[in-house]
Amino acid sequence: MFHKIISQALPYFPPKLIWQFSKSYIAGTTTQDAINASKALNRENVMVTLDILGEFIKTMSQAAKNRDDYLALIRTIEAAAINGNYSLKPSMFGLLIDKKTCFEYMRELTAEAASHGNFVRIDMEDSPCVDDSIDIFRRLKQEFPRNIGLVLQAYLKRTSGDLESMLDLRRDDADLNFRLVKGVYVEPAAIAYKAYKDINAHYLEDLEFMFKNNVYAAIATHDTPLIQGALDLIDQYQVPKEKYEFQMLYGVTPKKRRELVQNGHRMRVYVPFGEQWFGYSTRRLKENPAMVRHILKALVDKG
Ligand SMILES: Cc1cc2nc3c(=O)[nH]c(=O)nc-3n(C[C@H](O)[C@H](O)[C@H](O)COP(=O)(O)OP(=O)(O)OC[C@H]3O[C@@H](n4cnc5c(N)ncnc54)[C@H](O)[C@@H]3O)c2cc1C
Repeated sequence: MFHKIISQALPYFPPKLIWQFSKSYIAGTTTQDAINASKALNRENVMVTLDILGEFIKTMSQAAKNRDDYLALIRTIEAAAINGNYSLKPSMFGLLIDKKTCFEYMRELTAEAASHGNFVRIDMEDSPCVDDSIDIFRRLKQEFPRNIGLVLQAYLKRTSGDLESMLDLRRDDADLNFRLVKGVYVEPAAIAYKAYKDINAHYLEDLEFMFKNNVYAAIATHDTPLIQGALDLIDQYQVPKEKYEFQMLYGVTPKKRRELVQNGHRMRVYVPFGEQWFGYSTRRLKENPAMVRHILKALVDKG
């Protein structure tokens, strides 16, 4: 309860204090910071997906700036020969303000990545964004079959139906490619599973469905029982290494990450960076109030 109260008050904490905690989960504020973090991960045989922080913008001029920043990022990263791709949050490009322009911006970024033979993934945000994000994915998948992927959230009751409804997008020469996550937003019980056990059971059902239907799976979790469940399914369906990868967040459970890499599984780390780190950090902390103790420790250590 104490941690929960503190986590609610986090936006009012001094940014310097939040940074003490955030620096382990964010690669830094500049593209150079992201390149340095990505190179270090690449040296550990880990691929990356880059994310410029910022979401739920208020004006379309912010959306245009985000488009420009991502375009510059893609060009810089391709020139730096990083083994990585890009994650895009539709709300950063104005999904909830002007869907048509949002689509155009995301299309431009996908075209830029595709021109380098690379790939972008559409992150999944909260439930009001799901229909439109799937629609954008559908349209981009038809135009750039090899260069676009989507995230699906196992906690949403609709997800198994969404998965099935997108099988028509499969092509022999271009995998359907979904990152499967539990889901990070607070959603009503009418539309989302709430219990850990239910979310995990549906996660594994969705993953099994993907393996059975030859869908490329990005297995994004740090949860040991889920990782084991995924490994069991990989074994059961004899899924070849090039048909799946594990994914983890920057700075989270590096020991588990290394173990999977040592055992020969492909691994990608989500590398968030940028000036908008404060909002991202306070959200992460609200999700995981237990981490408030790190902040309190930083406060005491500083004292
Ligand atoms: C690569 C990647 C991309 C993602 N993209 C999206 C997305 O587009 N949309 C979306 O809704 N969600 C996304 N998520 C978040 C996801 O939905 C979960 O909220 C998050 O991964 C935590 O769930 P878990 O499966 O790790 O299991 P949990 O049961 O939550 O965690 C298992 C264990 O992992 C560790 N852990 C987990 N998260 C953290 C953390 N933040 N800091 C420190 N330790 C932690 C803890 O030890 C915890 O006990 C993404 C996650 C990953 C890994």
